[in-house]
Amino acid sequence: MKKSKTRNIIGIVLGIILLVIVVLAFRRYSQKIQSNIDEYASTTLNEFTALQKNAVYSRLNENMNLLNNIAVLLEFEHTSFSQAEEVIQNIEIYHEFSQLLLFDVNGNVITSDQKAAEIEYKDIAAQFQDGDSIFHNPILSPINGDYMLPISCPIYDENKEEILYVLVGLHSLEVIKSFIENSFNENGNIGVITSDGELLFSNQLIQQELSIRDKYLEYLFEAVTTSFTKEQLLEDMSVKKSGTFIYYYEENEIFLQYVPLEINDWYIVIHINKSSLASRANIGTRAALQFLGTFGLCILILVIYIYVANSRVKKELYQLAFYDKLTKLPNGEYFKLKAEHILSKNSENTFLCIVFDICNFKLINDRFGSAIGDKVLCTVSNVIKEALGVFPAGTSFLAKLHSDTFVVLLPANITDDYEKKTLELIDHIRLATDFIGEYKLDLSLGRYFTQENDTSDIVLERALTAHSHAKRVAPNQFVNYDSIFIRSLHRRADILNSFDDAIKNGEFQIYFQPQFSASTKEIRGAEILVRWIKDEKIRYTPDAFIPVLEEAGRISKLDSYLREELCITIRSWLDAKMRLPHFSVNVSRIELMQSEFVTNLQTLLMKYDIDPTMIHIEVTETAYTGDHEYLVNKIIELQSCGFYVEMDDFGSGYSSLNVLKDIPIDIVKLDMKFIEDSTVRSGNILSSVVRMAKSIDLITIAEGVETQEQVSYLESIGCNYLQGYFFAKPMPKDEFFSLLEKEQ
Ligand code: C2E
Ligand code: CA
Ligand code: CA
Repeated sequence: MKKSKTRNIIGIVLGIILLVIVVLAFRRYSQKIQSNIDEYASTTLNEFTALQKNAVYSRLNENMNLLNNIAVLLEFEHTSFSQAEEVIQNIEIYHEFSQLLLFDVNGNVITSDQKAAEIEYKDIAAQFQDGDSIFHNPILSPINGDYMLPISCPIYDENKEEILYVLVGLHSLEVIKSFIENSFNENGNIGVITSDGELLFSNQLIQQELSIRDKYLEYLFEAVTTSFTKEQLLEDMSVKKSGTFIYYYEENEIFLQYVPLEINDWYIVIHINKSSLASRANIGTRAALQFLGTFGLCILILVIYIYVANSRVKKELYQLAFYDKLTKLPNGEYFKLKAEHILSKNSENTFLCIVFDICNFKLINDRFGSAIGDKVLCTVSNVIKEALGVFPAGTSFLAKLHSDTFVVLLPANITDDYEKKTLELIDHIRLATDFIGEYKLDLSLGRYFTQENDTSDIVLERALTAHSHAKRVAPNQFVNYDSIFIRSLHRRADILNSFDDAIKNGEFQIYFQPQFSASTKEIRGAEILVRWIKDEKIRYTPDAFIPVLEEAGRISKLDSYLREELCITIRSWLDAKMRLPHFSVNVSRIELMQSEFVTNLQTLLMKYDIDPTMIHIEVTETAYTGDHEYLVNKIIELQSCGFYVEMDDFGSGYSSLNVLKDIPIDIVKLDMKFIEDSTVRSGNILSSVVRMAKSIDLITIAEGVETQEQVSYLESIGCNYLQGYFFAKPMPKDEFFSLLEKEQ
């Protein structure tokens, strides 16, 4: 009896001890799990914050770079305020800016879209101190009442001393919001604030309760319970310190992490509901209970669970930081990482990096709507991805850099005909995008062949530079980043830098290339061709400098100088009682489009008392594409003043013979390519052009005539005038004068 009582007591004591041990073990274990979960949660939060910060920071800086590039372009080319309008309106993509503005110091403004400017110069100018580019706090647009985030950048005078203009890019609220993506949905908020607690921009959720430029921190600390204070936070932010604290809001435990954005005094602030970070917390606790019964199994389940949850959250984070939402393609950041890997793994091989975008993509969006625009981008991405399938796995890579700009890296093979393959690919793309009807997609393509020890940053930067120049050449053709390209960049810079002095120093001279009657072989005219001569040597050929001047908007300066030189020469010859033929001058399309062009020309001829019928205006065939009606009116205006109008380079472009009927020109000048190609087919075309021209009373001139056979053939089909090396090369004025004298 006594024995059994003692046993019972021992049993109870043992039981109690066991229970205490079990309870203690459980408590310890669940605490441990809890702290692991906390640790896991905070690691995830840190990772998430870093990625978010990086995304916002690089997006903003990318946009600032673009703006700086445009500014450098304007500065470098000494573009005047009025010329700048054309430049900024012709920039095809404003990237993520909804509008570009150019202010002069008086507050006059030019806009990229010809819409009224949404901000005032004083809003921006007040913040210019040391003249660097600036990210501004959001400004309220007086037009639509929305906030805009401006970036501004000064443009200096030649001596880099005075600010002439200020270039401003505006981001709309929608774009700003898209800077911040949130993979934690309703459980997470992200905002960017100033160091004194004003909200600059944030994702949708915060904005439902707060608006931009509100006192964000005041609102926060009033609404939530926390042991952390606003003062503590402000103090941290004043010394650019990062930190994390927990607050409670409507029974939720929320992590708040604040990290300097490294732009101005801006901070990125991330709130994440702890439960969403560590949604395993409760399951974890339960698992701890079961663990007491079934140790091994629980551990296993826990390990698997942590692994899966961890990789899912990570995947979401990576998706967020490294992928384009629309096409699901990797973005530029990921491209750099991946390219680095591919390049270092295959260091002996050459790779080809191509950056491309869709020409006039904005037009597609405007015309067909952004849903179709999106579909086009996805289709392009799919076609290219499929085409890359031919390369061994892990050696090629497609990514989307921004809006409609993509980048590809692929193994280079010297024997490959990339031009042909690319044209085939473009055909594929056009076929796959037939849902936009007749509209045919074109691409601007820049490429770079990698060299030993290139980093992915270098590779991408060079392909991007080539691409930015691809916009200047015809679409669907590669611009290579190679030594020729670099030389052409230098040449371009040299041409533009020395142009003004060259005019002053009289380095530009007019040369005369005689035009002969096909029947009598007498001189009937001369084409005026410019020569850039320094120290008795040709400095650049017209084909090298004319396109550069045209593109930089400087050609008018040269051509009006040359025309004045011509008039002075003609006047002196007339005064010498010389019988003169006509003179053909080349006029670039840009000049022709200027409203005062015809009046200026008339004034000039009046000044030197020269009859307009002596002057032929040569307009190249390609100028006839574009604003047809405007051009026709210009031609009629010229003719009504007495000038003759010639269509230059006929046959070099795409105009059909019908153009001859549609445009009221007087003379058609047949491109030498017609003649160079002496096949029967081109002979037939040539004779039918001449026949047709005659039937509508047009005069024909053949240029580039080099051989006796060509002369005989042109005579036989009834061509009126002949010009070319067979007769004479372009010559200085004194030589031409002697030639004329001989004929008199
Ligand atoms: P373009 O108007 O088609 O001028 C004809 C070009 O063919 C000239 O080249 C001329 O020297 C060249 N040429 C003439 N006969 C022959 C020949 O028998 N064989 C060959 N192979 N070539 C011949 P240039 O002078 O180098 O001018 C090139 C282009 O530059 C011109 O093409 C014109 O578009 C532009 N250009 C030249 N001078 C001026 C100018 O003063 N103002 C403007 N806006 N453009 C000019
Ligand atoms: Ca010409
Ligand atoms: Ca020509």
